[in-house]
Amino acid sequence: MWVKMLEINIIDSFSDNYIYLIRNEAKNITCVIDPGESTPVIKFLKSKGWDLDEIVNTHHHHDHIGGNAELLEIYNSKLIAPIYDKSRISNIDILVSDNDLINIAGTKTRVIHTPGHTLGHVCFYMSDEKCLFSGDTLFYLGCGRVFEGTMDQMWSSLIKLRSLPNDTLIYCGHEYTSSNAKFAKHIDPNNQLLEQAIIEIQNKRKSGLPTIPFELGKEKFINPFLRADDQNLIDNISLKKNTPNEIFSAIRSNKDNF
Ligand code: ZN
Ligand code: FE
Repeated sequence: MWVKMLEINIIDSFSDNYIYLIRNEAKNITCVIDPGESTPVIKFLKSKGWDLDEIVNTHHHHDHIGGNAELLEIYNSKLIAPIYDKSRISNIDILVSDNDLINIAGTKTRVIHTPGHTLGHVCFYMSDEKCLFSGDTLFYLGCGRVFEGTMDQMWSSLIKLRSLPNDTLIYCGHEYTSSNAKFAKHIDPNNQLLEQAIIEIQNKRKSGLPTIPFELGKEKFINPFLRADDQNLIDNISLKKNTPNEIFSAIRSNKDNF
């Protein structure tokens, strides 16, 4: 029987960021992913009586690392961050790059380099826990804006994530789901699976609940940014483009101006 070792706590931060506080009770290890601010993390740790062993960053943007300094000072945690950001994130203890196998929260974790949103962006995949921390690369029904990388890089990065097992649960950096849903529906109006997902999403948001995590297998059929090579979507949209790369780029640009 498969038993999850980790408890993943979702902490709201700023207006729409999520900070993930991972607890491995058996090994007494606590880890935080992308602490954009320290205050809500400290409050949560205190309420549980936990120390903070590890801080993990997916990329250098302030809303993902802003809490590093204060947390490091209080807890003297180990900081794990992408090698590409070594001059943009201070005090990194463990630099990670594509395909590294490391331990996070006492669990085997694979680093997946996903350039596009930023050049150094990495995601963290825990196969034993069937979960992925996707930062600002893959969102529920969306993907990150392409700031530093190219559209081609972002599309390749999303394909890498898409190849993970269907039962992977995805924990992303922001609650952008409702606005992503509007765009997804706009370009893919006849998708029944999408329609169902939107009803679930609306119910969760009405109850003040996060829409995170979401399941990769389902996402392959409803997230337009994972479907630039899916004939069912391509037939629906009137973009006169040829390659998946061009189609992805067109969808991403459309969303930027939506
Ligand atoms: Zn970002
Ligand atoms: Fe962000």
